[in-house]
Amino acid sequence: MKFRILIISSLVLLASCADKSQPIRIQGEAQGTYYSIAYYDDQQRDLKPQIDSLLQNFDQTASLWVENSLIRRINRNEDSVLNDDFYAMLKYSEGIKALTDGAFNCEIGALVNLYGFGFKKRADVSDREIDSLVHILHQETYRIVEDDAGNHIIRKNYDIEFDFNAIAQGYSVDLLASMFDSLGITSYLIDIGGEVVSKGKKKDFSSWVVGIERPAKDKYDGQEIETAIALNNCSVVTSGNYRKYYEKDGIRYSHTIDPETGRPVNHSLLSVSVVSDNATFSDAMATAFMVMGLDNSLKFIQTHRDQVSAVFFIYDDHGKYKTLATPEFDKLIIQ
Ligand code: AMP
Ligand code: MG
Repeated sequence: MKFRILIISSLVLLASCADKSQPIRIQGEAQGTYYSIAYYDDQQRDLKPQIDSLLQNFDQTASLWVENSLIRRINRNEDSVLNDDFYAMLKYSEGIKALTDGAFNCEIGALVNLYGFGFKKRADVSDREIDSLVHILHQETYRIVEDDAGNHIIRKNYDIEFDFNAIAQGYSVDLLASMFDSLGITSYLIDIGGEVVSKGKKKDFSSWVVGIERPAKDKYDGQEIETAIALNNCSVVTSGNYRKYYEKDGIRYSHTIDPETGRPVNHSLLSVSVVSDNATFSDAMATAFMVMGLDNSLKFIQTHRDQVSAVFFIYDDHGKYKTLATPEFDKLIIQ
């Protein structure tokens, strides 16, 4: 769930839908969070039914909160036939896992649940349980076979569980963007809980603008904007640890797990925002950077500039938060 990007443009979207100089605005709920979409359409089509149906279908594949979703059934070993979206997210995750040297790992589900960030309540975590799951994570736990009926997953270990939460919102934002593209809509801003993708310009030729939230003191703190950026045919996704965490004995545990140690990450990064032309990629990289921490993320960017370059970090420096924007991100900042 993400709520770290505020749509500044939405303030001006309240005008009547009949006024074609103003974007049509649709809001709703999905994936345990809000969605907010603005678009221009000469035909003034109300796309809410199509949007809701796409998002509900997607939840039937990837939501860990839907008892009989495909991912839950695969995790329980009740199903093995992968639909297109599951297969695409799995392949995508494999690619990002390789790219990030294992910082990103969609087989993290059982560990996430152990710490209580998933749909199950937190159990008392034992070192032995964690270490045994980490050991399994470093082995090949499944393979995919293709036959006439499609792609099947053959799992070799049932202790691990899939969890696409680190890319599901980005992926569904991209699915909606494809739907808008196929309907011939050329100017839109799609935001699911802070995962944003934009296309085209507004009617007054200005860019779509989004705000990136200042780190909150805790999950109950209100939202304030740290910086605002202009989006031109690209996506921005933020991962942060200041809204999703749990506290035990005064220590805050992040919901991002380092697959190398099996433990919640514990470093100075408060949030990472990634801009790229694809929300799935931005979402995956934002999570991976949260695992890597500031120094390793900067090193990674240096050696992978062709893949990811526009990144904004907010980190804790002895109790004060500081920000660091790469030059490519800096160019997008408008305030
Ligand atoms: P995000 O908010 O996009 O950074 O995704 C965080 C969610 O991804 C967590 O709540 C977990 O469900 C899952 N997750 C945690 N650690 C990892 C990891 N190292 N790789 C992939 N997914 C993760
Ligand atoms: Mg993510």
